[in-house]
Amino acid sequence: MPWETIHKATPPRVPPNLDDYEKVCDAFSWTGARVKLDGLPGGRGLNIAYEAVDRHAESPHATAVALRCVGRDESVTSVTYRDLAHTTARFANVLRTLGIGRGDRVVTLLGRCPELYSVVLGTLKNTSVLCPLFSAFGPDPVAQRLRLSDARVLVTTAELYRRKVAGQRDRLPALDHVLIVGDGARDLTGTLSYDALMSDASTAFTIPPTSADDMALLHFTSGTTGTPKGAVHVHEAAVAHWATAAYALDLHADDVFWCTADPGWVTGMSYGVIAPLMHGVTVVVDEGDYSARRWYRILSEQKVSVWYTAPTALRMLMKTTPRTGPYDLPRSYDLSALRFIASVGEPLNPEAVVWGRDVLGLPVHDNWWQTETGAIMIANFAACDIRPGSMGRPLPGVEAAVLRRGEDGRAQITDGRVAELHEPDTEGELALRPGWPSMFRGYLNDPDRSVAAFAGGWYLTGDLVRRDADGWYWFVGRADDVIKSAGHLIGPFEVESALMEHPAVAESGVIGRPDPVAGNIVKAFVTLRPGYDPTTETRQELLAFARRRLGPAVAPREIAFDQHLPHTRSGKVMRRLLRARELGLPEGDISTLEATEGSA
Ligand code: ATP
Ligand code: MG
Repeated sequence: MPWETIHKATPPRVPPNLDDYEKVCDAFSWTGARVKLDGLPGGRGLNIAYEAVDRHAESPHATAVALRCVGRDESVTSVTYRDLAHTTARFANVLRTLGIGRGDRVVTLLGRCPELYSVVLGTLKNTSVLCPLFSAFGPDPVAQRLRLSDARVLVTTAELYRRKVAGQRDRLPALDHVLIVGDGARDLTGTLSYDALMSDASTAFTIPPTSADDMALLHFTSGTTGTPKGAVHVHEAAVAHWATAAYALDLHADDVFWCTADPGWVTGMSYGVIAPLMHGVTVVVDEGDYSARRWYRILSEQKVSVWYTAPTALRMLMKTTPRTGPYDLPRSYDLSALRFIASVGEPLNPEAVVWGRDVLGLPVHDNWWQTETGAIMIANFAACDIRPGSMGRPLPGVEAAVLRRGEDGRAQITDGRVAELHEPDTEGELALRPGWPSMFRGYLNDPDRSVAAFAGGWYLTGDLVRRDADGWYWFVGRADDVIKSAGHLIGPFEVESALMEHPAVAESGVIGRPDPVAGNIVKAFVTLRPGYDPTTETRQELLAFARRRLGPAVAPREIAFDQHLPHTRSGKVMRRLLRARELGLPEGDISTLEATEGSA
């Protein structure tokens, strides 16, 4: 292990102390976690929105602040749990009046704003299905997903509607209603004013009986490896949202929690909306643009105690303040309320964890999960020591395994069976035992792909990992990304992490480039930190640095400088796009490509 273990800096608040990890896991059951939820009054079932809002609104916690909204103009408004119970009831009534009921799809194309919370949770109260989209999607990906999801209602803004939907409306016959948040509905034919409908609606709404198996959320995957898939989630996911927020994020009712994920991505829903509210915390809702200064300002002014973000955000902070110092920027903000940072979505380079400790004085906890898993599955627990570079250990109730791979890099399936690898530090495909409550119930309208995700009694994640002798999991790469070079299998993450340790490197993306001799050679695309120039000397130095760190078999043979690496909207480096561009291949589905990406 190249990095020393980082010992927990904050006293753990999670009851029971996870230092006794095995004991906690043995004592845990999903049925036991379910008991922590209230269920709908009168035994009428389990509804996510009731657990997130109404049960607090019916308790002494009703006047606690549920949302602290920081506007673009820096204004701050507060919404209590009681207020949120009212606005979500209003939206449920709006849907009911429009004839939208159980199972009908309501799609949001919104940034993070207070209305989003009313729409998401109001939709769930009405037992309709919420499907969030990234507001930065272009017209084609929006139309494609509206069609794939059979959307009956779209909630968006006038500007987004005009730019992204209006021109395609006649090709969306199933889309019955478009609700416009804010001004502008009057000038747009075929739309309704969200504000007008809301002010006419009653604040009283009784949630209909909801089965734990009723469909609740439809989430499109990030599209990192190909065409996005629509993962179906049900109300039972609430059990996993509750438990994972307790164990991995250590949320308590007096926490101020901020999740920077876009609401169009599964993290923005599961942990931007649902899970923290279930724990009665105050959620920071930030409508502004992101910059290091703004982030620090919000963390300090709002006294955020738990921050959930992504490696790409941490790398942005790292760009402004190298570990070698000076630390003026972060030190000029009061981050004393912050207990720890959690990160998800992409491999968290060990350098980022050590940077957090040295520069911010804070532990950074990696979490692993997927759209399909619906909730965090593997984590460096809030109450445990951290192993930098490791994703952590499975959450209580989650059974994970490493499966032997076949020729194609995925788990080898022979007569419907797979083989578990028990030897420590052996690479294989990460698999999870089906049965956790937030497990996706299939990809919408794609039964073949849904069936293919399972084999031999396991859900196959498509990610390659190794497990060390103590049971910690280490991310190797996506099965599709792994590079075969001169008989070696190379995970791009390992190469990217080594490059990140050089002070010149802000970020990198590593691919395999076909080579007649080696099969593939490792090529790295590198974004430089301010103050470094893309010269031949820099390139030579980085090549030599990587060779010293990784050895000649694994180190990149080529380095190209690229200040605009392609990212998905959820912040992941799109290696498949780097590769397609390098090889002059078709770019494939780039609907989730971040709009600000340069021409690279
Ligand atoms: P698609 O399935 O459409 O190709 P995607 O897999 O990127 O896109 P998501 O469900 O948003 O869509 O992302 C889940 C994936 O993100 C995981 O399978 C893994 O590859 C990566 N990931 C998430 N968290 C981590 C982490 N902590 N460390 C390493 N990789 C992670
Ligand atoms: Mg995926």
